[in-house]
Order: sequence, then C-alpha cells, then structure tokens
Amino acid sequence: MIPMTETVYDYAAVGIGPANLSLAAQAHRVSGIRGIHLERKPSFSWHPGLLLPEATLQVSPLKDLVTPVDPTSPFTFLNFLAAHDRLYRFLTADFPAVHRTEFNQYLTWVSEQLPSLEFGSEVTAVGFRDGAFRLRAAGREIAARHLVVGTGPVPRVNEAFRPHLGGTVLHASQFLERRPDTADRDVVVVGGGQSGAEIVRHLMTAPRPPKTLTWVSRRPGFLPLDDSPFTNEFFFPAYARRFHALPADHRMRLLDQQKYASDGIDLPTLQEIYRRRYAAEEIEGRRDWLRFLPGCEVTELSGSQGAWKIPLQGDDPLDSQVLDAEVVVLASGYEHRLPPCVSGLLPAGPTPGEPRQVHDDFSVDWSGPAANRIYVQNAARHFWGIADPNLSLLAWRSSTILTSITENQ
Ligand SMILES: Cc1cc2nc3c(=O)[nH]c(=O)nc-3n(C[C@H](O)[C@H](O)[C@H](O)COP(=O)(O)OP(=O)(O)OC[C@H]3O[C@@H](n4cnc5c(N)ncnc54)[C@H](O)[C@@H]3O)c2cc1C
Repeated sequence: MIPMTETVYDYAAVGIGPANLSLAAQAHRVSGIRGIHLERKPSFSWHPGLLLPEATLQVSPLKDLVTPVDPTSPFTFLNFLAAHDRLYRFLTADFPAVHRTEFNQYLTWVSEQLPSLEFGSEVTAVGFRDGAFRLRAAGREIAARHLVVGTGPVPRVNEAFRPHLGGTVLHASQFLERRPDTADRDVVVVGGGQSGAEIVRHLMTAPRPPKTLTWVSRRPGFLPLDDSPFTNEFFFPAYARRFHALPADHRMRLLDQQKYASDGIDLPTLQEIYRRRYAAEEIEGRRDWLRFLPGCEVTELSGSQGAWKIPLQGDDPLDSQVLDAEVVVLASGYEHRLPPCVSGLLPAGPTPGEPRQVHDDFSVDWSGPAANRIYVQNAARHFWGIADPNLSLLAWRSSTILTSITENQ
C-alpha cells in the first residue's frame, strides 16, 4: 500500500530523447495526469555529436512529436516555425529535407515549455516497493505507479577497438563533441551506413580536409535507403499493428528483408559524395586522396595514438591489406540495450537488448503486479518492426502508452 502522505506520480519516464519528449508534450494536454520525465544530460540535445550542419532529417518534419496524432497541439513543428516568425521563409526556402540542426531547435523549444521535465537527473536504480516504482535520481527517491523506459540506443563498438578509444579513435556519435584534428591527416571511417556517409561527406567538404580519406564498409556497396512510397507504408501504425500480431519467426524474416528501408544511406547524401569524389578525381586530378572500400571487414586495430594499423579482410583477396591511419572514426551504428537501472526488474528476452514480451500498449512482461506497468519506447524492433527506432511512429506510440496509463490510473 502506498502511504497516504507520499507524492506518487502516475508515471515516471526515464530518458528525454524525442520518444519521451513526445510523451511529455502529449501528457501536458491531458488533465488529471501527473508524470515526471528524467534526463541525465543538463539540457535537451538530440544526438549532439552528429549534429553536422549539413545533415538532414530522413522523414517529413510533420512526423514530429505530436502532429500525426494531434495536429492541433501547440507543440507541432509548424507552430515552432510560426512562433519564431519563420514560417513564410521556411515555405519559400522549399528545402527537400529539414536540417537536423533545425529539428533539434524545435525539440529544444518544446522541451523548454514542459514543466514535467527534469534535466541533470540520471536514474541510477529502479525498484518496486509499497505499490509503486521507486526511482533513484539526483540524490532522491521518486515514486510512480507506472514506468516508461525511453533511454534510446547506445553506440556499438567492436570489442577489439574498445581499449583504443580516445582522442584519435572514436565512435561517430562523439564526432562533434571530441572534434578530432583531421586536417591533413590519414583518416579512416569504418562503417557504410548513414552516419559513416555523413562523416565522409563532412570531411570531404571540410575547409581543411584530411590528407587521405578511406571509407570502409562491410556491406557489398554503399547502399541507398529505400524511401519509396510503398516501402514507406512499413512506417504506418496499421502496418506496425499487423507486424506485431505475426508469429516471431515471420517477424524476424521481415526485419531482415526490410533492412534497407531504415538502414541505408539517403540518396542526396550518396549523390553529394559521388559528385565531390568525381570532381576531386576527374577534374582536379587528385586520384590518391579518397579510397572507398566496400565489401571489407575490419575486426582489429593495432599501433598507438595517431599511428594505427588496420588490417582489412575483403570479399576480394586483393582488398586484404593493412591501412595506416592517424584518426579512426567508427561509424559502426547503435544497439539497443535495456539500461542497467531497470535490468533487475526487466529480464532481457531471447533477443539481446529487448524485453521478453511487449504487448499492444508497449507494456512488457515483468514479475511485479499487473496494475503497475513498465512501458518501453524504442526498444522492441523485433516486436514492432523497422519503424520502432524511427521518428515516424513516435507520436503514435506515445499516444498509445498515454492512453494505457490513463486507463490504468
Ligand atoms: C544521428 C542520428 C540521426 C537520426 N536521424 C533520424 C531521422 O532523420 N529520422 C528518423 O526517423 N530517425 C532518426 N534517427 C533514429 C531515431 O529517431 C533517434 O535515434 C531518436 O533520437 C530516438 O529517440 P529516443 O528518445 O528513443 O532515444 P534518444 O534520442 O537516444 O534519447 C534517450 C535519452 O535517454 C537518456 N538516458 C539514458 N539513460 C538514462 C538514465 N539512466 N537516466 C536518465 N536519462 C537517461 C539519454 O541521455 C538520452 O538523452 C537518428 C538517429 C541518430 C543516431
């Protein structure tokens, strides 16, 4: 039983990325619900290490925190533009895609209006006692009936590289925070997905570019994102519901088949890289500046700070060589891992990083009372499909979670 005098929130949300920010923005408009949202960073920022000035959003900006489920909300991207008196100029600029820096400004603007957000509050432990979850954050205990976990993905780094991480070997997610000195150096970017492409484009067009720039990908080529109309139906709530109802082995097969609907490189980025390379090699005659090596795997790194040796294993034996690098950027993607603070309550299921069962309302199976639920945001790709980590379904998922919380108050 909860003691009568204790403050108990209806829910506590761990992490404030776009997922839980969407939840907070929607909950703000529901009377009688009291939530608290906790973030370890001192203020809102959206993947700051990769907020490159030229990087753009891969979805429509109307797939914002609220529009798909509540277009009349004051927290829409369009209202952000209007509130900053830039709507006409934005429309006239007619960007093919919105800059991520601008979308980050929008997200930050929403975060500044929501009193239920608390920054600088890392959740270090979560337990359950007397009918409520007990969260330890910023030196105090917070009690809540339900828990929403929205801690996002974590950078994936091959075991062999971990001991070398530092000033000249870094994951792409830290690129702008670390700002490695790449000017006139031998730089190797490992990883042929969107982040790798964005770093390569950034370095190719830098005012002080690298001496040599090598881009290595395990994939057989630098493959595009499938952003075509029928494929985009995989990012509809109705498709997510159908996917969720399928047997597990069918879901696994589909995830594999649909990989490049979410994991490839967007076409404008590929075109810019291709054109810049053409200009460098064909027009400027700089044939030894860039080396693009698809179909090559990197599993080892030796040497010391600034003088690294990277053996390549290629599909073609001719590609099996040792690269020299002064700076190595690992664009090796992200993985989902349930955060350590909830692992005691939420044993992982057969798929690493995901819970055992995720229900229709995004609640998961756990060993405590059914009246108290744990919901997961962006941690159930194997249950909900390729759209789960994406912005597309974020507003709908938050609205589904909020409805469930309201019904279980
Ligand atoms: C560089 C990049 C660009 C992307 N661009 C797009 C795009 O254009 N379109 C698209 O659809 N998708 C995109 N995505 C995918 C996805 O939309 C984003 O990853 C999105 O940020 C996911 O939101 P999230 O809230 O689930 O997680 P995150 O944004 O990762 O937020 C999770 C938050 O939880 C906090 N946290 C973690 N543990 C704790 C703790 N114990 N206590 C308190 N706080 C904690 C973290 O500090 C973090 O701020 C992109 C991903 C990346 C990496």
